[in-house]
Amino acid sequence: MTVQPVFTKSLQAMAPAEYRLHARSWLAANLPAHMRADSTDWRAPALEESVSWEARMYRAGLAGMTWPVEYGGHGLTLREHLIANKEIGAVMMPESAGSVGKELAGPIIMAVGTEDQKQAFLPRILTLEDMWCQGFSEPDAGSDLARLRTRAVPHDGGWRINGQKIWTSGASKADYCLLLTRTGTIEDRHKGMLMFAVPMSTPGIRVVPIKSIDGKVSFAEVFFDDVIVPDEARLGAPDEGWDAAIRVLSIERATNRMYRPWRFETELRALLRGLKSDPELAVLLDDGAVRDRIGQVLGQIDALKGFVEGSVEQLLDGAQIGARGSLSKLYWSECHQAFAGLALDLVGHVTPRSSGLAQRIRDHFTTAYLFARAETIYAGTTEVQLDIIAQRILKLPKDLQK
Ligand SMILES: Cc1cc2nc3c(=O)[nH]c(=O)nc-3n(C[C@H](O)[C@H](O)[C@H](O)COP(=O)(O)OP(=O)(O)OC[C@H]3O[C@@H](n4cnc5c(N)ncnc54)[C@H](O)[C@@H]3O)c2cc1C
Repeated sequence: MTVQPVFTKSLQAMAPAEYRLHARSWLAANLPAHMRADSTDWRAPALEESVSWEARMYRAGLAGMTWPVEYGGHGLTLREHLIANKEIGAVMMPESAGSVGKELAGPIIMAVGTEDQKQAFLPRILTLEDMWCQGFSEPDAGSDLARLRTRAVPHDGGWRINGQKIWTSGASKADYCLLLTRTGTIEDRHKGMLMFAVPMSTPGIRVVPIKSIDGKVSFAEVFFDDVIVPDEARLGAPDEGWDAAIRVLSIERATNRMYRPWRFETELRALLRGLKSDPELAVLLDDGAVRDRIGQVLGQIDALKGFVEGSVEQLLDGAQIGARGSLSKLYWSECHQAFAGLALDLVGHVTPRSSGLAQRIRDHFTTAYLFARAETIYAGTTEVQLDIIAQRILKLPKDLQK
């Protein structure tokens, strides 16, 4: 499959500085005002709008940067991936509606999928023709996935699946589920697990949406009752599900959404701009304690940028990030949660008489604050990251951790 370019020079022929300029100018020219969270024209985009916007970003060379050309990607390196992410972070656009496909399912299919699976799934992930969800967590298996009970048993050359998943983001809109199941017994712990790409339209799958504290219905419980899938739905060999899951989790913690620190910086600028747009709010910024907290947030954002840039250099040099992904996950989530707390304290002073921009910023940070509560939970909780750092990076003996 070849991508129809929307630019005159091929991406591969662009020097990094040219690619940066291309990304910056394309975003500035194409992102509609109503999709900028710091614009008074903002309105939450409908799913179709997000899908169409992200498909355009892909055609412009701003998604699928590192994926091979034969699977629809742009055949670039992590360096360009980082450049694009910095530019994406510099504009307050909506979070990706297709991130599970692009950041979790795609990389794992590339790693363990058959050639047929790569051809079938990968290009459609980038064009957002297929949306994915991640079916790992269960009511009794979150931090400790070895407790998962959803069972897959051989059936007529394929598999029969029974069980329940929970907190499955985007399940209601997904076409496929990246599903982690158990083929052995629960006592097997990490052995006897198998991963599947299951079409969500398969009979026996029931999605029950869950409303979250921010009023959105972004995740769901997913029930599997005698769901029959062919063997072609299997991703990787039986018993290799745990290794595949660990790869997914380390990608989730280390390299996805690299734009975060640049996005946080953009959010901080938007917060300050919103407050300064109203004289009654602007005085809040004269308070020494507020200035201290802003300084701390800025320092954390800078440290996070350095961590992301350093990780990219190491990956380009062929290193594995492994457990260091936990440092990134711990730091960005704690940093953003602290920032969202500061922002909420400040936008709490916005009144119906405040400027339009201040009102917009208050709405943005109220939602951001509520969602930030989840940031120290999903992709592995803070406590679990601390455990991994203690054991696998610092090599602390277990009894010292008590
Ligand atoms: C917004 C959001 C989106 C999500 N999306 C998805 C998704 O798309 N797909 C999916 O599969 N899952 C998803 N999850 C689920 C998420 O991965 C789990 O919530 C997370 O792994 C924690 O599991 P749990 O909720 O079962 O909590 P538990 O594992 O029961 O943990 C409860 C508490 O005990 C602590 N704890 C647990 N183990 C240890 C330990 N060894 N040491 C110290 N403390 C410990 C935890 O830190 C936590 O505070 C999502 C969650 C959220 C909040």
